[in-house]
Amino acid sequence: MQGYTNANDISAVVAADKAHVWHHLSQHKGYETPDVDPRIIVEGRGLRVWDARGKEYIDAVSGAVWTVNVGYGRESIANAVRDTLLKMNYFAGVGGSIPGALFAERLISKMPGLSRVYYSNSGSEANEKVYKMVRQIAHKHHGGKKWKILYRERDYHGTTIGTLATSGQLERAAQYGPYPDGFVMVPHCLEYRKQWDVENYGERAADAIEEVILREGADTIGALVLEPVTAGGGVITPPQGYWERVQEICKKYNILLHIDEVVCGVGRTGTWFGYQHYGIKPDFVTMAKGVASGYAAISCTVTTEAVFDMFKDAGDHLSYFRDISTFGGCTAGPAAALENMRIIEDEGLLDNTLKMGARVMDNLHALMEKHKVIGDVRGKGLFCGAELVADRVTKEPMDEKKVAAVVAACNAQGVIIGMTNRSIPGLNNTLCLSPALIATPDDIDQITGAIDNALTTVFG
Ligand code: PMP
Repeated sequence: MQGYTNANDISAVVAADKAHVWHHLSQHKGYETPDVDPRIIVEGRGLRVWDARGKEYIDAVSGAVWTVNVGYGRESIANAVRDTLLKMNYFAGVGGSIPGALFAERLISKMPGLSRVYYSNSGSEANEKVYKMVRQIAHKHHGGKKWKILYRERDYHGTTIGTLATSGQLERAAQYGPYPDGFVMVPHCLEYRKQWDVENYGERAADAIEEVILREGADTIGALVLEPVTAGGGVITPPQGYWERVQEICKKYNILLHIDEVVCGVGRTGTWFGYQHYGIKPDFVTMAKGVASGYAAISCTVTTEAVFDMFKDAGDHLSYFRDISTFGGCTAGPAAALENMRIIEDEGLLDNTLKMGARVMDNLHALMEKHKVIGDVRGKGLFCGAELVADRVTKEPMDEKKVAAVVAACNAQGVIIGMTNRSIPGLNNTLCLSPALIATPDDIDQITGAIDNALTTVFG
């Protein structure tokens, strides 16, 4: 496998990119220097990708943002999409499609208690749908009350103004206000960065949600949105007892529970959905990235039949869910998603994720013995993180530039890893690992071996 070998092709592509593409999450000033080019990935196979100059990498973050769950170069997904497109590529989602119906049925078979799938294109959009549903339920069923939505510090739910209004990653939201009313933040639950000195930390962190509910008035709160494991906010696995208490609180105050599975969904944590580790009964589940592993754009907002029923009334014909997503009617998404799910099932990738996830954690714990800059390691399945600190006792966060230097040193060894990306003021200090669910023991050891070398290079 190799990238473009023709030097003219490479320079023409790079020139076109530098002249016309505005990259995501990028400060472009740096690319004004003639010899600094954006990375252009041209090929992928399994866990490996090649850039335009033919350099090979092992991708330990599944397409930089935890997306390509089944790995690159899957011919069967490409074929499923091709066949579907040639037969019927698009008709608006006001009607149905063969892949849309079949994928919904297969998805729901993995989600006991849930029954309806609403299609759109991105994680942000899937979450916005929930916010609109909650607002409409408030108008239709609660006389305009229960219109507020709670979200958690350090969680992220998307890039639109509506979803940024629920960004617990304050740096990301900082320059785009003012935001709409009715979105209220609750404290994060990361025990390593304790906010309460108690024994039952999980219960205490959940009680903090109840305190916010009582402060705001329970009759004003319609829903609570949480990531099962906080992803970009620092790979935060919930402490013992947290979810049980959260579920109780939602029940007590009649608050709908929305689980954002955009990252954790479809196998990433070793179960179909992250919430399934914790016995949670959600009212809404949203998912995007791993649904079709990036082979097509698709997101889903999944609800219970009870939520769905709230939008049905004979007689009042305008009180249905008045929402449409043009490309939610594309058939490529559900066709790719159906094949993606088959692969995960037939190749036993949930089981592999649990095994390989345990290996990542063992390796990271071993690195912690060796490198005192690792303050904490956290993870669930193949979503793992190592928080770097300047001082283990005070837990002073490692300077972001040094964390970035570790990422760069891995990159130089041909291993792409991630870090919390300028999202939490002062706490962009967690290395993130989320390789494809097909990772082998050798892949895992190569990835953590690169981190070992990188930590030695940067910190000695
Ligand atoms: N929710 C979570 C937990 C995410 O991590 C992201 C994206 N990183 C989103 C929602 C938004 O998804 P998208 O970028 O597809 O809009």
